[in-house]
This record gives sequence, structure tokens and C-alpha cells, in this order.
Amino acid sequence: MQLSQLDIKFIPGVGPKKADLLHKELNISNADDLARHYPYKYIDRSRFYYLHEISENMPFIQVKGQIIKFEKVGIGRTQRLSAIFTDGKDTIELVWFQGIKFILEKYKTGITYVVFGKPTFFNGKYNIAHPEIDLPSQLPPVEQLGLQPFYNTTEKMKSGFLNSKAVQKIMLNLLPYFQSGISETLPAYVLKKYALMNLSESLINIHFPKNAHLLNKARQRLKFEELFFVQLNILQQTKWRENNLKGLMMKKVGDFFNTFFSNYLPFELTGAQKRVIKEIHTDLGSGRQMNRLLQGDVGSGKTLVALMVLLIAVDNGYQGCIMAPTEILATQHFDTLRSLVKDLGINISLLTGSTRPKEREVIHKELQSGELNILIGTHALIEDVVQFNNLGLVVIDEQHRFGVEQRSKLWKKNVQPPHVLVMTATPIPRTLAMTVYGDLSVSVIDELPPGRKPIQTYHYYENKRQALNGFIYKQIKAGRQIYVVYPLIEESEKMDLQNVTEGFEYFRESFPEFKVSMVHGKLKPAEKEYQMQQFVNGKTHIMVATTVIEVGVNVPNASVMIIENAERFGLSQLHQLRGRVGRGAEQSFCILLTGFKLATETRKKMDIMVRTNDGFEIAEADLQLRGPGDLEGTQQSGMPFELKIANLARDGKMLSIAREFAMEILNDDPKLEKKENLVLGSQLNKLKTNLINWGNIS
Ligand code: ADP
Ligand code: MG
Repeated sequence: MQLSQLDIKFIPGVGPKKADLLHKELNISNADDLARHYPYKYIDRSRFYYLHEISENMPFIQVKGQIIKFEKVGIGRTQRLSAIFTDGKDTIELVWFQGIKFILEKYKTGITYVVFGKPTFFNGKYNIAHPEIDLPSQLPPVEQLGLQPFYNTTEKMKSGFLNSKAVQKIMLNLLPYFQSGISETLPAYVLKKYALMNLSESLINIHFPKNAHLLNKARQRLKFEELFFVQLNILQQTKWRENNLKGLMMKKVGDFFNTFFSNYLPFELTGAQKRVIKEIHTDLGSGRQMNRLLQGDVGSGKTLVALMVLLIAVDNGYQGCIMAPTEILATQHFDTLRSLVKDLGINISLLTGSTRPKEREVIHKELQSGELNILIGTHALIEDVVQFNNLGLVVIDEQHRFGVEQRSKLWKKNVQPPHVLVMTATPIPRTLAMTVYGDLSVSVIDELPPGRKPIQTYHYYENKRQALNGFIYKQIKAGRQIYVVYPLIEESEKMDLQNVTEGFEYFRESFPEFKVSMVHGKLKPAEKEYQMQQFVNGKTHIMVATTVIEVGVNVPNASVMIIENAERFGLSQLHQLRGRVGRGAEQSFCILLTGFKLATETRKKMDIMVRTNDGFEIAEADLQLRGPGDLEGTQQSGMPFELKIANLARDGKMLSIAREFAMEILNDDPKLEKKENLVLGSQLNKLKTNLINWGNIS
């Protein structure tokens, strides 16, 4: 029988209750899913270790030897049993805290046993607590023991008698199906091209590897398969869109753009800005709908690019909009852009949650009549009441702050979908760009405007605070402004807020001469706005804040960013915060303050921040340190398939290969209809039925 026809309820060891648990806890609903519940680690029973080989971070090991003597240590409830075990050369202590009587009856000195357990280092020597002990004759030959799989389970599974051992037993019952009931999902020519293990062998070896080499081959195959189908899916979708969705035609570069370019451009565009504008313009006139991601480090001048491509849209008779994640940012964009185009005769408005009803009405009317050319705003833009006359270009700033749905709503604001430009200052590691954002074209601004001095970053401990205050004093006296940022997360919100307000008091007391502002999410919008404006206008010298100021805010005169409790921020966030300074001509500084005791990972974070200003390098490091699941923006972007075995932090090279190959195949056979590719098409369809609403936008 084929594995796929098997009802998991009827697998020995499962039954209806456990089948239900598997479904609820692990989303396993059929035998195929079950087969793809891979072990997360293995324990090596394929060889015996010598005691002198033991080191601290070893997983479970097995040793062959004899017990020399037993000894009871302590009395009453704290009593333990200790045995000295030797492999003939060295010794190790075996320890039991329970079942002492039983152990003493069962095991004898002077007999050869196989001892299996995890060594721990304690009091200057190694011991193994509660080892498994067998007579060699009770165990199958070592070659057959191989590597023992361990499976992820949940608390509920464990209390339902579905621990890792039980899952292993279930898998054992699937083994005959792995051997003869598996349909291969990759065509023979693909297996051959990359010398991949077939699916049947791979499933056998991923669950019950005979040795490390075979395990490795199995992993390679399963990873490749996973990444390959992700790419086939994304690329096929992109191709479909390219072929089926017509793009609004915006070929012309007209008066608005040209007049702005020759008369009102406040500074020479950087080479990268020019290149990116060209790339976007080409898209706009291509007849296909644009979906482009614009990546550019903080301060690289994305806003100006957005404005200039919006002018192209207006030149072609379309309306455009910019959606920003916060009111502060939307307002700032509005102020900047309005002053840039004030003499062009362009009608531009701001729509946010706090726009008054009267103004709102006017905006709605002008939008529908087409009088309004450019609308800037927050989420307020996606409300149904906001109806455009002819929306042609949507710009989404700091896109990682928005969910898939919010973005796709903007698509529907025109009968024919508008062009979409999403901008982000959080550089996306290459591997994520190819998967999570794999259906977007990418433009990169890899050059900062001239004259910027790289920000100098320092990592200080608390004991430097006095010196730091001296430094702050000098900077303000020289005319600069200072940011001080505190972490604030939901789980510890109360404490965090207290820290911010205490920090605010501290800075007020330490600098009686200067004015201090405070902004955090719990303030009323109007108060927040007021405090922010005070700082933007230079009325206050120090801004004490939470990460509300992380995104986009532009105060070129601010030259120092102090980050309190820097250990509590992620790398990308630290980089974003640092990007708030270094926007003017003055030398800027970023000071990371932490306590003395730091985890290795935190120390690494600080070192990276001090060493480099390169957002891409930082994004890669962030991915390595935290893994893709935690990266901002990845959850809500929604991966097309959940990756079960491939890892975007580690399998970048394989991902590139899989992508190139998928592209090659689709170029030749876009619908996967050729005989040799039929199997790909049907597997892809099967995977897609598991997809929840993977919409039409990244
Ligand atoms: P981001 O890419 O982070 O959104 P902004 O668009 O806010 O960056 O630009 C950062 C600052 O750089 C702004 O003050 C902007 O006016 C300035 N700027 C943008 N382009 C240039 C340029 N080509 N030359 C000089 N300054 C520029
Ligand atoms: Mg910006």
C-alpha cells in the first residue's frame, strides 16, 4: 500500500486519540505529514566512546566497561548511589538519585555492560546521571543501532503518551511504507543532476540513519526538495502575474518630473538614487504591473526616490500614495514632500487617524474627483471609504511594519492593480529576499549621500555614565541634540515604562541647563506629537524615548544616540535606532549601554554594532544569531511553505542553486506540463492545498 493512502488512525501505536493529538499539536493530518515530521536531533549509538574522549558539550554517548564499586552517599532523602565505572583505562562516576535498591540488585561489579547517557561536568570531573545500562548481548550489534532519532513533542503530547520514544515507535511502523510505498516527488533527471538520494531512502535515513554519512545525504535531499518547491511556487506565481496582469502604462516623463528635476531638486541625486529611479521607470513603462522592493540603508534617501517616481505617475495622469507605519512618519513625509513640490502645482494631502472629519471629507471628495494627486498617510489609507479616482502607484514605506493583508488591500483600490513600490531600511538578507520576498523585483540604494561621516559606535558599561554625561554636555553646548532610547516590550511594559520615566527624570536632573522631551507609546497622540515637534524644531535638547522613534524620524541636528539596556534589543533594531543620527554634516555617535554580565550572543551583537555600519552585514549576522523565524517582518509576510528542515541562515548556497534551477525549468516549461515535469506540478499542487491564503502580494 502507498503511504499516502494510509489513515494514520490505523497505524499501530496511533489510534484515534493520538491521531487527534498529532493533528492539534503538530498539524499532522495524514501519513505524508507524519513522514515529514523529522527528528530534531540524533543520538549516536553507532559506536562506543572511550572515557578520555568525553568533553563537556557532548550529547548522549555509550561506553563499554565494568563497574568497579558501588557506594551510597548521604542519608535520607538526599541519598544517592554512586558507582565507579571503568572502560579499562579511565573511570567515570555513574549516579542515581532514585531506585537505588533496584539498581543494586540488578547490576553487579565485574560484569561488562554498555552504559548509555549524557555526561555532565561537576566538581572537576565527569559523571553520568541515571544511565541506561544493558548487557552487550541484549543489544543489537552496534552497526544496526545507528543513530537514534529524537522528535519534537509538546506538553500535551507528552501527557497523552506521545513522547519522543512513542513517536519513534510510530515511525518504526511506517518503515515498511517508506521502503515500498513512497512516490518520488522529484523527476529522475533532477535526482541525477544533483546526485540526490531518492525519497524512499531519504525518509528511511532521516528517521533511522544507519550512519552519519547516510543521514547527511538524506538531509541534503530533503532540504533541496523543500527549497526547490518553495522556489517553483514563488517563481511560477511571478510568471503568472507577469503574463496575466497588465500594468498601467506610465512611459512618459513629463512636466512635473522634469521641472522638479531641473529647478527644485534640493541636491544632486546620488548615483544609486539615479539608477533606482531608472529601474522603476522602466518597470512603470513595461506594460507589466510592478512589484518592487526598494532596499536602502537608513538615510540613503529613499523618500526622494519615492517622490520622483510619484511625479512620473502624476505626469501620466494617475494618482499616487505613500503609506507609512506611524503618524509621526506620515506627517514628516508630508511636510518634506509638500515643501519640495510647493511650486509645482501638485495637490498633496495628509490622511491619518487624527485628520479631522471636515478635512477628511474634502480629501475623500478630491480623491474621487481626481483633483488630489498625491495622498500621504497611515493605515487610514486602506479604509474602504478612501476611494481614488485613478490610483496608479502605491508606495509603502518601512514595509516590514505592515502585514500582507494591509498591503494587498491597496491593490484593490483600482480596477487594474496599481504599481507597488515597497521600501525598507531593514536590509533583508539575501536568502530571505529569495524566499519570503521571492516574487518581488529588488532595487538597492547602496550609496549614502556624500559628506556623511560614518557614525562612530561605542559599547560602554554603566560605570562610564559620568564620562558620558560630560560628553553629552559638550555635544549640546556645540549645538547638537541627543536621543536616549529605552527598551519597551509588552511583557514587561510596566517596568519598562518606569525605566523611561525615571530616565527622563535623571536626564532632567543631570542637565538642569537643558530641556528634555519624553515620548512613549502610552502618551496621548497629541502629547506625543507635541513632544516630538519640540525636539524636531530644536526647542528641546534631549529626547528620552522608547522605540517609537525607531522608524524613519529625521532630525539632522541630532548627533548622539544613546541606547540604554542595549542588550535587550535585536541587532536590526539597534541598527535602525542608530540610523536616527548621522543625518547631518556633523560627526555622529552611537553609545550602547549595557550591564557588565553579558551572554556570549549579546557580546557578539555589541561587537558587530561597534565594528560595522553596513546594514546588510548586520542583517546577515542577525539572521545567523537569531534564525529566520524571529526576524522582523518574516512572520507576517508568511512563507509559502513552512520550512521543516532547510534553514535560511545556513542553507543559502543550496537555496541559490534551487532557485536558479527552478527558474531554468519554468522558462522551458512554465506550466510544468511536460511529461518529465508532471510530477513537479502535482506535488506543487498538493503542497499548495495546504497554503492558507497566500495572497497576490509578497
Ligand atoms: P531613508 O532612506 O532612511 O528614508 P531619507 O529619505 O529620510 O532616508 O533621507 C535622509 C536624508 O538625506 C534626508 O535629510 C534627505 O533630505 C537627505 N538626502 C536624500 N537624498 C540626498 C542626496 N542625494 N544628497 C544629499 N542629501 C540627500
Ligand atoms: Mg525613510
